[in-house]
Amino acid sequence: MSESFEYVVVGLGALGSAAAYHLARQGESVLGLEQFALGHVHGASHDTSRILRHSYHTPGYVSLTFEAYDDWAALEADSGEQLVSVVGGLDLFPPDPAIPMADYTTSMAACGVPFDELDRDEVAHRWPQLSLPEGTVAVHQPRAAVVPAGRGTRVMQDRARAHGAVLRDRSPVTGVRDLGAGGVEVQAGGTTYRCRRLVVCADAWTNRVLAGLGHQVPLTVTLEQVTYFRPDRPERFAPAVMPLWLWMDDPCFYAFPCYGEATVKAAQDCGGPEVSVDDRSYDVDEPMQQRLADFMATTLPGSGAPVRSVRCLYTLVPDRDFVLGPVPGHEAVTVGMGAAHGFKFAPTFGRLLAELAVRGTSSTDLTPFRLDRPALTDAGYPAHWLV
Ligand SMILES: Cc1cc2nc3c(=O)[nH]c(=O)nc-3n(C[C@H](O)[C@H](O)[C@H](O)COP(=O)(O)OP(=O)(O)OC[C@H]3O[C@@H](n4cnc5c(N)ncnc54)[C@H](O)[C@@H]3O)c2cc1C
Repeated sequence: MSESFEYVVVGLGALGSAAAYHLARQGESVLGLEQFALGHVHGASHDTSRILRHSYHTPGYVSLTFEAYDDWAALEADSGEQLVSVVGGLDLFPPDPAIPMADYTTSMAACGVPFDELDRDEVAHRWPQLSLPEGTVAVHQPRAAVVPAGRGTRVMQDRARAHGAVLRDRSPVTGVRDLGAGGVEVQAGGTTYRCRRLVVCADAWTNRVLAGLGHQVPLTVTLEQVTYFRPDRPERFAPAVMPLWLWMDDPCFYAFPCYGEATVKAAQDCGGPEVSVDDRSYDVDEPMQQRLADFMATTLPGSGAPVRSVRCLYTLVPDRDFVLGPVPGHEAVTVGMGAAHGFKFAPTFGRLLAELAVRGTSSTDLTPFRLDRPALTDAGYPAHWLV
């Protein structure tokens, strides 16, 4: 069997679903291929919630967050679904933090993002739920928000289909061949597909999909874990009285106010072991859960005991910057990877990937995310993921 589409998207997690959505919305003929069932829990885009925020460590990312908020708003308008829940956000910097506060405050100031710097007592006055060590400084950004992970991804899939995209799940792509002027050939589920442009959003599986092109991205897959805590008095952790917050140190933790249920969700950033996609576990990592529970008991007393934990994959590149652009030497193939902080930008990734696929250029400078940058080509590049 063979079929042709103008565009084929490999991977229907958040990024691929967004790319299929934006291509279809522009009236393009697009096919999305997913190896598992839509809505699966084997990758990086499932579960309840993700953080959307302006506070970032470079002006480049801060300015990109404006596009992210706009693209989520456009998706809300197109779908009629409320997706962005503004709750406010606190970046908490203990004395001598591993993550420099100035990176965040100067980047936001450079982009005109309003924020407040608060000392421990001011935090305690406004959010008595938090118990912070002496000398902690906080940066409060009122527009920080929660976006739905699994539901958000499904909305993009539904809108992609509503705009005419063909989405096929349980269709693993097993081969990609660049035919030059003839486009790209894709093998999946016993069918050969031809397309003018291919968009690869396969995150932890990216190198498998790109193998046929002889290109590999230096990536590390880690098995992360988020844990839900059940407080005795959930009203003390409701969005109206508690923002989302990030502990900007090593280890780095983050937590959400109650979101759709009477629990507080928290996790460690980059706290999981390195794994391969074939032998990763789905079991709860008890020591990871205990480490987090100890931190929560100290920092957010009353947040309660763990009631469940969920595993999820991080796919990291050495500089933890996005991967967004054409494969060198294979201009017809574009790759999108979120470097384990891409969900907030998913609708934006989708729009930019569609622009690159259709026009070969994008309205946003994507130079920092090129596939031939030193961090992705220099084998000795020192990895740093704590940002
Ligand atoms: C615990 C956790 C917390 C996070 N918190 C945040 C946050 O607060 N804010 C934020 O912005 N980001 C956050 N992230 C990161 C964010 O979730 C990811 O960057 C984003 O979900 C990546 O989406 P994706 O579509 O690239 O990857 P995935 O969702 O993994 O999608 C890749 C898809 O490709 C498919 N695929 C792979 N190979 C093939 C093949 N050969 N054929 C067909 N299909 C294939 C896979 O099955 C999968 O569905 C978090 C991630 C984790 C794990």
